[in-house]
Amino acid sequence: MPPIESLIEYFSKFPGIGPRQAKRFVYFLLAKDPMFRENFSEALVRLDKEITQCGLCFRYYQKSYERDGKCPICADAMRDSSKLLVVEKDVDFENIHKMSIWDGQYFILGGSLPILEKEPTKKIRGRELFNTVQDRAKNGTLKEIVLAMSATSEGENTLAYLETILPPLAEKYHLKITSLGRGISSGTELEYSDHDTMHNALENRK
Ligand SMILES: [Zn+2]
Repeated sequence: MPPIESLIEYFSKFPGIGPRQAKRFVYFLLAKDPMFRENFSEALVRLDKEITQCGLCFRYYQKSYERDGKCPICADAMRDSSKLLVVEKDVDFENIHKMSIWDGQYFILGGSLPILEKEPTKKIRGRELFNTVQDRAKNGTLKEIVLAMSATSEGENTLAYLETILPPLAEKYHLKITSLGRGISSGTELEYSDHDTMHNALENRK
């Protein structure tokens, strides 16, 4: 396939990007100087060379920060390992983490569940969450799982799904399962929620 068509196809796969926008991206790139394109492709290559995914929380991080095979957050002994905050997307994690309002550990599901999703485990890391919770609970450290989903229909659907797979573990290991309290108005995505809203929602979790 010629490079223009090929790139249009790649950009069309991006979230929220249609073929028309994808085409605009490609012509934007063509109009830039060669240095811009070189730096752009270099940045893409560096993603593979320098970024890795944590096997515990599943977030992406700089390989050079790895400690004992974990990301620096999972390896941080100062964090409260009795609490696990479960979020849908990487951007949700980033938004909450930069607020410094959570001192426990994190788990990133990698997406959310549309209504009537037939294969939830292909969309989100439900099985991985189950295993993580089980491992952490067996070690005797985990006490609470906080399900921090967006106040959207997909977020609510994801929450409902997690509430079907976690209770057996919660019962077995005496874990508390909580979700964000009010304060998050309907339609709010955690990716965009502000410090005070998020702080209140966490404080009022139940
Ligand atoms: Zn981690």
